[in-house]
Formats: sequence, structure tokens, C-alpha cells
Amino acid sequence: MTVSRSRIIENGLRCRCPNCGLPTLFQEGSRFRVNEACPACGLRIENGDGAFLGPFAINYGVTAFGVVIPFILLYATGRVGAAVALPACLVGSLLVPLLLYRLSWGWWLMLYYFFLPGNLPANRAGHEEDDR
Ligand SMILES: [Zn+2]
Repeated sequence: MTVSRSRIIENGLRCRCPNCGLPTLFQEGSRFRVNEACPACGLRIENGDGAFLGPFAINYGVTAFGVVIPFILLYATGRVGAAVALPACLVGSLLVPLLLYRLSWGWWLMLYYFFLPGNLPANRAGHEEDDR
């Protein structure tokens, strides 16, 4: 069975394993502990050596461009005062990364495998190799 790009997008948006589609990105009962590998299909999720940088970049980008910069621009143009802009930036820069943490992993894996779908074990020729 192969995994199409549309299936990769669907799994990424639903925060599921891009290979098998099961909700196995995070350890059972944990909101923040990423599985090293999918317990169902064995796909390596946390590869070490900077695997967290993709989700980190997504989280940082959404927080900066979705919260902090807009409030800085609103303050700079005089539409909101410092009493609104500063707390909004502080609270937003703390809450948004926490709220987006799980989604950022799903989105990162979605982006990675959308451009490299042949790296998914389900899409490899022969399917006999493991994904290490
Ligand atoms: Zn899986």
C-alpha cells in the first residue's frame, strides 16, 4: 500500500503518523513526549540530531508572524497602546507555542514527507527494508 501526498496532508493536519495514519506521534498519555518511532509501523519520528528543529521553526514562525509582529505593528501605527500590545505579545509568545506544540510535529512531518514521499516505508519499493 502506498501513501499519497493527499493522505500525507490529511495525516499531518490530523497530527497522525504520516506512514500508517494512526495517532501515534506522541507517547501514550503524554501531551508533549514524542515517540522515537511509531509503535504501529516503526516510522522514525524523533530522529535525534535536530529533529525538533522543524517543529520548532514552525512554532516560532507562527508565533512571530501570527502574534508578536502584528501586535508590534499595531502598536507602531498607534492602533493599540503599550498596555495592550506588551501583554498580548508576552502571553501570545508563551501560550501559542504550547498550544501548537503537537500540531507543529504533525505539520513538520507532513511538510517533510510531502516533498519526500518516497522516504515513507510504505512507499519504498519492496517494503522489505525497515526504516532505520
Ligand atoms: Zn505509523
